[in-house]
Amino acid sequence: MTDIKSLNLSQLEEHIVEAGEKKFRAKQIYEWLHIKHVRRFDEMSNLPKNLRTYLEEHDTLVSIETVRVQESKTDGTKKYLFALSDGNLVESVLMRYKFGNSVCISSQVGCRMGCRFCASTLDGLERSLKPSEMLDQIYAIARDTGERISNVVVMGTGEPLDNFENLLQFIRLLSDENGLNISQRNLTVSTCGIVPEMIRLAEEKLQITLAISLHAATDEKRKALMPIANRYSIKELLQACRYYFDKTGRRLTFEYSLVGGVNDTDTDATELIHLLKGMNCHVNLIPVNPIKERDYVESGNAEVVAFKNKLEKNGINVTIRREMGRDIDGACGQLRRRHSQEQQSGGSEF
Ligand code: SAH
Repeated sequence: MTDIKSLNLSQLEEHIVEAGEKKFRAKQIYEWLHIKHVRRFDEMSNLPKNLRTYLEEHDTLVSIETVRVQESKTDGTKKYLFALSDGNLVESVLMRYKFGNSVCISSQVGCRMGCRFCASTLDGLERSLKPSEMLDQIYAIARDTGERISNVVVMGTGEPLDNFENLLQFIRLLSDENGLNISQRNLTVSTCGIVPEMIRLAEEKLQITLAISLHAATDEKRKALMPIANRYSIKELLQACRYYFDKTGRRLTFEYSLVGGVNDTDTDATELIHLLKGMNCHVNLIPVNPIKERDYVESGNAEVVAFKNKLEKNGINVTIRREMGRDIDGACGQLRRRHSQEQQSGGSEF
């Protein structure tokens, strides 16, 4: 069986010609899949019946099922829990900004990166998502809301660069002019910093924004928060960032989750300034969203503001990420975990 929604248009054309059909049918199918977002082959009403039957017999049409939706009462953020065809669950988030709608998607079921403050990694990695399964999170949200989606961030559960080939195909399909046609400039991929894969990504010369989860300015501190720091030093990481910028001309974003008393002091800010001085980058400060499995606490408002001001005074481009959906398990992996735990204990608050 072929996962038809993961094929690009020329692969789909080949596939259809192999089936003994005319090439133009591929374009029609592609439209049904990537623009009209149908969920079954028999909805493809301009295809001859025998082609629809052929597709049903030879192809799978990935279509995720909505298990739960939670809508924030404060900012319109919607969090979705989706079931994949094998029963695995993934989460996605719709955030409504002034500039348009942004969807945050997951790239894997679980994660094996082990970041200490993150809920997505507590149970390890189950499997990587296929291109179709990444796309379908966006399609399902577009179907549900009837609203246009202008931006996509790959910042949900999973490490996208640990699923490199599928991520690349996903990016190409998402930005394809025959599909949803979301500009690569409106797509951000966030990584914990797998250096060789960052270099590989740079070689692709895409126009996406690469966001690096830095979270600390010294190797010692970073190692305490993120196991990946044991593999690659900050020096190597920043070299890869400069390489990415040289190849693509795209300014990098550094994510820095502020953890109370751990990485939010004046010294931490000074070290971060030294590290990033002169780099064409943007720093995104995120007050850590505490998870109950760990005892990290978020930084106080005064610390966050002081940290930001210090960076700004030193010429570093910085924003504090507006917290969205805190009332609906906004942090990565929280909704999925809570749902699974409730299923196990038989109770539900819904
Ligand atoms: N694996 C990728 C993308 C997923 S996580 C990465 O590491 O970048 C998206 C961002 O949220 C990362 O910067 C991650 O470090 C951060 N994050 C995860 N859990 C968090 C939490 N509880 N509070 C604040 N930020 C968190």
